[in-house]
Amino acid sequence: MTKTGILIEIENDAVKETSLGVMTAAAGSDIHALVLGKAVDGVKDKLAEYGAGKIVNISVSNDLSISPDLQAQALAAAVKKYQFDNLLGTASTNGKDLFARVAAILDEPLLSDCIKVNIAEKTGIKSHFSGKTFAQLKVNTSVFLCTLRPNSIEPAAAPALGEVVEFTAQVSDPGLMKIVETKQPGQGKIDLSEASIVISGGRAIKSADNFAMLDLAAEKIGAAVGASRAAVDAGYAPHTIQVGQTGKTVSPKLYIACGISGAVQHFAGMKTSKVIVAVNEDKDAPIFSKCDYGIVGDIFDVIPVLTEKL
Ligand SMILES: Cc1cc2nc3c(=O)[nH]c(=O)nc-3n(C[C@H](O)[C@H](O)[C@H](O)COP(=O)(O)OP(=O)(O)OC[C@H]3O[C@@H](n4cnc5c(N)ncnc54)[C@H](O)[C@@H]3O)c2cc1C
Repeated sequence: MTKTGILIEIENDAVKETSLGVMTAAAGSDIHALVLGKAVDGVKDKLAEYGAGKIVNISVSNDLSISPDLQAQALAAAVKKYQFDNLLGTASTNGKDLFARVAAILDEPLLSDCIKVNIAEKTGIKSHFSGKTFAQLKVNTSVFLCTLRPNSIEPAAAPALGEVVEFTAQVSDPGLMKIVETKQPGQGKIDLSEASIVISGGRAIKSADNFAMLDLAAEKIGAAVGASRAAVDAGYAPHTIQVGQTGKTVSPKLYIACGISGAVQHFAGMKTSKVIVAVNEDKDAPIFSKCDYGIVGDIFDVIPVLTEKL
């Protein structure tokens, strides 16, 4: 049986759903859940429920949280210590950053932001050319390094032993970089890239204040709010929530596009959503040929009614 290390991301003392999906992607191998510098007591049962044979609590002599280089070195040390065949994680902001560093340390190639993975064959499927094509990539390496797009794999319980082991990595910080502050989005806001529901507004929203209508709907259904580039360029929304080719890529279970025409560059960022709902007053808008459910209507009529119903 192959051995797979999985970088677990923890938020508010709970395992992120996206990490559980990555564990499901590694089903059938001997899964080691890797927790970097955080207490495992509160998360070990969840990790065991989703397939962790071992839960490796990785520490170093310093504070791990301040240095991405130190975290990457500790992860690379764990790969060597446990002789993993595969190291998987989420293509989150942290995951993308850390895995690139680990790949450099181990001098191995990295498949990043895959939407499917087959660890037995060391292959991953990635979306290319703004989502117009999908490429299957195969690597022939001793350690298969791969990050998966958040929400691309539905987590499925697969109970395992969940034995906790401690690993103190003997590594030192090169001192090139230090995290001085981490800014969280507003209270209760959901990370757009990892949200399971996203509701986005386009040019039709007409003002920054009108985004409050989407905030309200988002609050009701536990969604994150996104925006098209036209809405961002017009100053209605910050670039941090732009979805698309030059914004964020999202892959939620449900994507609701409000007053968005469905340009290819927007589609590139949300095409892998499981269900797409569009609200647009123009029945010929391109978005209607790309969505699962379409509502022809004025967003200022439809969204408040939808919110009320929800
Ligand atoms: C290199 C490059 C990169 C790009 N990157 C991105 C990107 O990352 N993300 C992105 O989104 N775009 C990107 N774009 C821009 C993209 O081509 C489109 O211009 C943009 O997506 C359009 O945004 P929109 O759909 O909000 O606006 P529009 O295309 O103007 O569409 C507005 C829609 O709202 C509808 N509407 C108007 N009023 C109402 C109403 N009251 N109720 C209901 N519907 C209404 C209209 O019928 C229309 O379909 C990029 C473009 C380029 C060239």
